[in-house]
Amino acid sequence: MIPYLPLNEINAQYESDIEAAVKRILCRGWYILGEECSAFEREYAQYIGTQHCIGCGNGYDALWLIFNAYKQLGILHDGDKVLVPANTFIASALAVTHNNLCPVFVDPCPQSYLAGEKEMLAAIDDETKAVLLVHLYGQNSFGDNLAQECQKRGIIIIEDNAQAQGALYRGAHTGSLGDAAAHSFYPGKNLGAMGDAGAVTTNNNELADVIKALHNYGSKRKYVHESIGVNSRLDEIQAAILRIKLRNLDSENRRRQEVAQRLIAGIEHPLVQTPIINDYSQHVFHIFPLLCNSRDTLKEHLAKKGIETQIHYPTAVHRQECYKQYATLSYPIAERLSQQEISLPCHPQLSEKDVQMIIEAVNSYQ
Ligand SMILES: *Cc1c(COP(=O)(O)O)cnc(C)c1O
Repeated sequence: MIPYLPLNEINAQYESDIEAAVKRILCRGWYILGEECSAFEREYAQYIGTQHCIGCGNGYDALWLIFNAYKQLGILHDGDKVLVPANTFIASALAVTHNNLCPVFVDPCPQSYLAGEKEMLAAIDDETKAVLLVHLYGQNSFGDNLAQECQKRGIIIIEDNAQAQGALYRGAHTGSLGDAAAHSFYPGKNLGAMGDAGAVTTNNNELADVIKALHNYGSKRKYVHESIGVNSRLDEIQAAILRIKLRNLDSENRRRQEVAQRLIAGIEHPLVQTPIINDYSQHVFHIFPLLCNSRDTLKEHLAKKGIETQIHYPTAVHRQECYKQYATLSYPIAERLSQQEISLPCHPQLSEKDVQMIIEAVNSYQ
């Protein structure tokens, strides 16, 4: 059996380091907003290439904090329009609607599955106030032409970097490209904690200042509350685990890229579309997506061959029950992806033999 993502095996590599870190925290007796969190914030900001990193509770909170901080700064207002990819995990859209902002969905590119530079540029109009770029599946969706147009028009670029820690665009990490970025360290992400965790990165001093208060009850000094805040903090144990795993992120991503390259070269089937990748440094393969007209029978076939797969995502955001108000909208590419996408195992623990088995299993589909 080849599991989709054996987190126990991935994390077992760090067992002794994690045990030592937990012991350190146990001795210190300080569990929230302490040394580990500050050290992780420093190290992650340096890795991503930004002035600031603020740890928080999870990836959704990181997105919510960014939009809410822009509202507190008086830069975004109720009802403002934000471009959001139609093909994404629902958190991207929820952070917008929970802040009383108005999502304008953008159909992705049928080759990259991303709403990237080209798609966003085509969707920008005089009412656009912000663009949420989602580096979906681990692939960069930022581009210089988009940045130029947004700067000219005063549009904010926010990155959802939940799936792309370590991906590069012209030598710079995703998460450092726009005005602010949200990161998720959900256990299954490329940099995963052992519980919920997230962070915001930015070079904007004012924004960082607001978020530093906002995520801790609107307070920078104990019992002094300058703004209406929430509780979304990164705890010491998760921060310590992330510090350990951050050191190996690049080598784990390189292994994912090698596996993906082998899958793309090896899979040859008239009914199956493999991703088209122009630049492997821009993609860290959080997810390896295949498209197939008969996705569900392919999934069954692979399960019979002992290969576990997943679907990202079976229902487009605008077709979700909770978003009835968007149900009449039409995003044909996002809808087609929701019917045809199937994700293969693509992680650092796969052996050469596993990769060969996956390729043969896909190629033998009838
Ligand atoms: C995982 C994910 C999130 C949310 O992260 P959590 O830590 O689970 O809250 C947001 N956006 C995308 C694209 C994700 O994949």
